[in-house]
Amino acid sequence: MTQSGRTTSLRITEIFHSLQGETSRSGLPTVFVRLTGCPLRCSWCDTEYSFTGGTTRALDDILTEVASHHCPTVCVTGGEPLAQKGCLALLTALCDAGYSVSLETSGALDIAGVDPRVSRIVDLKAPGSGEEARNLLSNIPLLSPHDELKLVLASEADYEWAKARIAEHRLTERCPVLMAPVQGQLKPAELAAWILRDRLPVRMQVQLHKVIWGNEPGR
Ligand code: SF4
Repeated sequence: MTQSGRTTSLRITEIFHSLQGETSRSGLPTVFVRLTGCPLRCSWCDTEYSFTGGTTRALDDILTEVASHHCPTVCVTGGEPLAQKGCLALLTALCDAGYSVSLETSGALDIAGVDPRVSRIVDLKAPGSGEEARNLLSNIPLLSPHDELKLVLASEADYEWAKARIAEHRLTERCPVLMAPVQGQLKPAELAAWILRDRLPVRMQVQLHKVIWGNEPGR
């Protein structure tokens, strides 16, 4: 198989229609394309079921299923979608088909090849994830106001680390910055209080889909 055109195939865990639970698109009906596999192992990962398994599917087949949901907004997620070479072709094909497309990525892989029409939601892994060493800092200068940077925080130490990275890289001048508490480890009210105390120009979020449906896969 080549990795361009309609001969591309990808390993897919699930495709489903739900409400976007994160980012500035939170609340928007969205089709999610969850790619299988991730080279990271964040301590608080909530999509471990996407690490293995899945089904190999042709790009055309994926596009047909996305179209069947009659929804203009698509999110490509994982796992770590960029770990599959075919992800770039999928993103471009979705943009060509007229969808408003976002990509959720760990921040550990190069985002330079992503179609510029895609809104890239890039994680910066805090120490509590156990994967801080995987942050690919060369991604940061590539971020534009059309993208978003996401910090998932498990503790006050993570928050202080995040605040220092925001200042060091002037992150809030590059793109919207999101902060989210790890469910069950950091109380949303605590994170909210710190953000307000420090007057950080970030957007705090809780995962809307978990508020509505709990931890069900396919939501
Ligand atoms: S990068 Fe995402 S999918 Fe991979 S281990 Fe971390 S949270 Fe889970």
